[in-house]
Amino acid sequence: MRIYNTATRQLEEFVTYTPRLARGYVCGITPYDSVHVGHGRVYVFFDMFRRYLEAQGYEVRLVINFTDIDDKIINKAREEFGAEAYKRWREVPERYIAEFFEMSKRLFIEPAYAYPKVTENVEDMVAWIKALVEKGYAYTAPDGSVYFEVGKVPNYGVLSRQRIEELMAGARVEPEPGKRNPLDFALWKSWTPGEPWWNAPWCPGRPGWHLECVVMSTKHLGMPFDFHGGGADLIFPHHENEIAIAKAYFGVDNFARYWIHVGYLTVRGEKMSKSLGNVVTLKEVLSKYSGEALRLAYAMSHYRKPMEFSYEVLDQAEEMAKTIYTAYDELGQAVGDAGEEDKEALDYGRYVEEFYAALEDDFSTPQAAQQLYGLARYIISTVLHKIDKISRNTALSILSQYVKMADILGVLERREVPKEVEEAVKAAVEVRAKLRKDRQYQLADYIRERLAGIGVELHDFGQRTYYTYRRGNRLR
Ligand SMILES: [Zn+2]
Repeated sequence: MRIYNTATRQLEEFVTYTPRLARGYVCGITPYDSVHVGHGRVYVFFDMFRRYLEAQGYEVRLVINFTDIDDKIINKAREEFGAEAYKRWREVPERYIAEFFEMSKRLFIEPAYAYPKVTENVEDMVAWIKALVEKGYAYTAPDGSVYFEVGKVPNYGVLSRQRIEELMAGARVEPEPGKRNPLDFALWKSWTPGEPWWNAPWCPGRPGWHLECVVMSTKHLGMPFDFHGGGADLIFPHHENEIAIAKAYFGVDNFARYWIHVGYLTVRGEKMSKSLGNVVTLKEVLSKYSGEALRLAYAMSHYRKPMEFSYEVLDQAEEMAKTIYTAYDELGQAVGDAGEEDKEALDYGRYVEEFYAALEDDFSTPQAAQQLYGLARYIISTVLHKIDKISRNTALSILSQYVKMADILGVLERREVPKEVEEAVKAAVEVRAKLRKDRQYQLADYIRERLAGIGVELHDFGQRTYYTYRRGNRLR
């Protein structure tokens, strides 16, 4: 597979350090507010990427962190709890981490290998800062904060392709009087009254953001590991600073081989952001649409490009999801009607080939999703009609290849229908078949309508009838 590496600005063949093992780290959320569809895009992308690698036989270790202490969390706690904030601030990250997991589940995102939190790794970070001070890459400010000195690192700016002089010209001078250079960043932030703190040799305080990801990624994945990802807005300064820290600490140019970045979301052409007030939460979208529909909507934009978010795209994706389920349900029922031998050759292989070719080429999910949808429609329009002209083996092979493709995109996640529902529907469909044979069409239609009322849709293919379940409503 070829994937775009931000570090080299090139498409590169994806080769892991250890054969059949892929280790990756994706920057997680700062849990101070509801997760939104922009977050969802990043985690769904890496979930598809991971599923694809797994389908290719890799063991995938994907680590996603939580920045569970941060200015934003402290501010939110103050807003909510006032003077109690000092005691109750942890309720903020706990609430939004719980929401993150709930939304991940509804988006069918597979669990990560580890979900490290900053507050559980402070000791490691203190040890790193000590080492960075000893090596001469970090210094203590008069207030006890510790800063990383970017000027000490050769090639600072290598990831974002910026020169230190340009960065200096554009840098806003922040109100941190102990800094030697405006680009230096805090590894340790000294304590301010009313804020949570941890012990450290310099002064009580808390770790800085950029440090956490280098410490926690290499702790869980080793060094170097295969891929590091996140939203494109993290390239600078976050990922640039991670690379600088790792360079100082390990003496390596790259502690992660492939840097993979996912584009942002727009609403009517404007970037989705809190300041513009156009943020759409996952909770809101997933109260109206299925997880599969949102995954398909994401898949329809290439991960590196900005994605225009709209409910029209979601409506279209929900329709696609329905078709994908219909093909699955009905082909599953049709397998039993397949013949002994192949009397006709069906041209379904091109969908399968093009699906994988698309993913191999910089993970082009828009093309892959089109191929999956194309195969779903081909199953409905052709395979089901010709089921007695193909062998059972061929029918099963189409079904299994179809499911494998759908599972990479994660859009057939609710295949199971309760056994008793399945049996009841089967019985009703059998009775209807008898009524049709006896030309009792009114009664047969009545059965069809009743089943439609509970979310079961019947499709007649001559004498045969196949049916599909509408997930996400009554049968859920
Ligand atoms: Zn990070």
